[in-house]
Amino acid sequence: LPGATVTRCWWGWGRDAEHLDAAAVAGLGTEVGRRLGAGPRHAAAAAQLSDVEVPTSAIAGPTVPGSLEELFDLDPGARVVAGHGQAFREVARAFHGAVVRVPDAVLRPRDADDVERLLAWADQAGVAVVPRGGGTSVVEGTAPPPDEPRPVVTLDLGRLDQVTNVDATSLAARVQAGVFGPALEDQLRPHRLTLRFFPQSFEFSTLGGWIVTRAGGHFATGPTHIDDLVESVDAITPTGRWSSRRLPASGAGPSPDRLLLGSEGTLGVVTSAWVRVRRRPVHRSTATLHAPTMSAAADAVRRIVQAGLQPANARVLDPVEAVLNGAGDGSHAVLVLGFESADRPQRDHLDDAVAIARDAGATISTQPRHIEGDRTATATGGAASWRSSFLAGPYLRDALISLGMVVETFETAITWDRFDAFVGQVRDAAQRAAAQVCGAALVAVRITHAYPDGAAPYFTVIAPGREGVADRVAQWDAVKAAASDAILAAGGTITHHHAVGRTHLPWWRDQVPEPHRRILQAGKAAVDPNRILNPGVLGL
Ligand SMILES: Cc1cc2nc3c(=O)[nH]c(=O)nc-3n(C[C@H](O)[C@H](O)[C@H](O)COP(=O)(O)OP(=O)(O)OC[C@H]3O[C@@H](n4cnc5c(N)ncnc54)[C@H](O)[C@@H]3O)c2cc1C
Repeated sequence: LPGATVTRCWWGWGRDAEHLDAAAVAGLGTEVGRRLGAGPRHAAAAAQLSDVEVPTSAIAGPTVPGSLEELFDLDPGARVVAGHGQAFREVARAFHGAVVRVPDAVLRPRDADDVERLLAWADQAGVAVVPRGGGTSVVEGTAPPPDEPRPVVTLDLGRLDQVTNVDATSLAARVQAGVFGPALEDQLRPHRLTLRFFPQSFEFSTLGGWIVTRAGGHFATGPTHIDDLVESVDAITPTGRWSSRRLPASGAGPSPDRLLLGSEGTLGVVTSAWVRVRRRPVHRSTATLHAPTMSAAADAVRRIVQAGLQPANARVLDPVEAVLNGAGDGSHAVLVLGFESADRPQRDHLDDAVAIARDAGATISTQPRHIEGDRTATATGGAASWRSSFLAGPYLRDALISLGMVVETFETAITWDRFDAFVGQVRDAAQRAAAQVCGAALVAVRITHAYPDGAAPYFTVIAPGREGVADRVAQWDAVKAAASDAILAAGGTITHHHAVGRTHLPWWRDQVPEPHRRILQAGKAAVDPNRILNPGVLGL
C-alpha cells in the first residue's frame, strides 16, 4: 500500500533511504545559514510514527458493516499517513509528530463497485469521505476537514492500479485512477506507448489525483495539463455513476469531463479514465543558454512560443533559482531548451529556438546536443543539473524542514503584457513579508510553463523559522497570505497547477465569478446532497 510501506518516509517526501544523510544536512545547515546572513542551523530528529497520538476511531466496531469490513483499515499508523499531505504546514507539523486531525479509518476499495458500496455506506451513515490518490497535495486537499463534526474517512484509491485497455489505433488507454506514475508507464511500455505526463511528484502521485487537481506535467508548452490528455472519465457520486463518452472532441454543451477536472474530490470519486497516449520519443535536442536577467530569458521564451515552436522544455531560472539548482553563480538567468519527437529529428526546431533566444540577448552556455534514436541517452550541462535538482528538490525541502526552516513554493500564471511587473510585485511582497516575520529570506523564481499569451512563474521561499513548529507554520501563513494577496491584486491566478484545496480557498473565492460558484454549489447539491465528499474544499 503506497502510502504506508516501511520504506516510505511517513512525514515527508519519498523514500527514507533517499533523504539527505546527517553530514549532508549539517553542511546544508551551514550553507543556508551563511546565505541568509545568520549562524549555522542545526537539525532536529523527526518524530516516529508510533509517537503520534491517535484518537480512537469514531467508526470502529459494530458501525462497520460486515460485508465491507475487509476494506476498512483502522491501523493508527495507516490513519496518520493517510490523513496528511505535502503542504509545508502538514510536513512541518508531522515532522514534529503534531498532526491536526487523523481520519477515523482508511477505506481501500478494490474496484469501482467497492467505491460505490463504500459511498452508499458513508452517505447513509453520515460519514465524510476524503478521496486520496498519492497524498501529494500541497494545498491540504487530502487533510481531514478540521471542523467537520461527522466522522471522516480517507478513501484510498491505491488498489485501482491497472491499465485495463489500450487502443493503439486511436492512441488512447483506459487507466484506473489509483495508478501511480511509474506503474502507469511500466504498463504502457510493452505497447511502446507513454502518457508522458511527468509532474515533479510523478513517482508518488496518481492519475485520479492529476485529473481532479488539473495537474501540470513537465512539458513547458503544448499538451502540458492533464486536461489535454483526458478523453473520458468514469466517476462515482453518492447519487450514481458519471461516465462520459470517449470522443476526440465534442461541442455538445459544457463538457462533463471539464466539470470533473479540477473538482478535487468534491463531486465524485474518479475510478478510471481514457487518456491520450503517444509513442515514445526517440529524437531529442537540447541546449542551455544564459541571459543577463530573468526578464530577458522570459522574453526569449515568449518569442519562441509565439513563433509557433513548442519546446518540451523551456525552463527559465532566475539568478537565485539558478544558484539553488547548481546551474549558475547568481550573476545570470538560465534558459533550458529541449525538443523531442517520436517521428522526426528536432535539430531544426532547436536551432530556430536558439536563434530567437540569441536575438533576445541570451548566449549559449551548453552547446546544442542532438540525440537520434537513443532511448537511454541522458541530458548534460545545464539541462542535467536542472533535471537532477528537480528530482532532488523535495528531499532538499525535507532537509530544510529538519533544520527548522520555513520552506515552501507557490505558483501562478499571468499574461505576457504584465509578466515583468507581476513577477516583481509578487517577489517583493513575498520577500518583504518573509523579512518581516523571519528576519531574512531567499525568494527564487522560475518559469515552469509557457503559452503564446503568457507564462507560469513558480516561486520558492526559504527563510529561517522560529523555535516552535506552530510559530513556523504561522510565519509561513503570513508570507503565503502576502504573496497570495499580491498575486490577486496584480491580476494573476491563485494557482496554475497546484489546485485550490483548503489552502487557496479565500483567494479562489475572490478570483472566480460568483455565478460560477453558485453553479458549483448547485451541482454539489445535485450529486452529493449530504455533502459527504471532501466537504469544505472549493467551498462546497
Ligand atoms: C514535491 C512535489 C512536487 C509536485 N509537483 C507537481 C507538478 O509538477 N505538477 C502538478 O500539477 N502538481 C505537483 N504537485 C502537487 C500534487 O502532486 C498534484 O496536485 C497531484 O495531482 C496530486 O495527485 P495525488 O495522486 O497525490 O492526489 P492526492 O494528493 O491524493 O489528492 C489531491 C486531491 O484530489 C482528490 N483526489 C485524489 N484522487 C481522487 C480520485 N480518484 N477521485 C476524486 N478525488 C480524488 C483528493 O481528495 C484531493 O483533494 C507536487 C507536489 C509535491 C509534494
